[in-house]
Amino acid sequence: MEEEAYELVLEAGNKGLLQSDLWKKLGVNSREGSRISVKLEKKGLARRAKELYKGRWTYRLYANKSEEVPITWNTLNNCPCFMCVQITRCGTAQPTSPIKCQKLTNWITKQFTEF
Ligand code: SF4
Repeated sequence: MEEEAYELVLEAGNKGLLQSDLWKKLGVNSREGSRISVKLEKKGLARRAKELYKGRWTYRLYANKSEEVPITWNTLNNCPCFMCVQITRCGTAQPTSPIKCQKLTNWITKQFTEF
């Protein structure tokens, strides 16, 4: 669920995502949505900015930029490219590419949500 939440906040870009919209998109109640938002913030994946919206205080979530997440050698653990049989045929203008690769996308998303 956190992974999905993080993707939604990322997709919102610079305009951010109201916490209440996040709950609705995830199909969870406000308590669960709030718990997920706090967890994303504690992991450094997002920041919450207090905002008065339609007369009620809420939070807007913004994804932290990747340069704000510390990178270490451990960051590369289990990267699918290191074990991939298609690595010699992977790249721009190749049948497979990191841009289109679902395995790589899933791994990167998991790295950020488990951080
Ligand atoms: S991006 Fe995907 S297809 Fe390309 S080497 Fe990595 S895992 Fe393999």
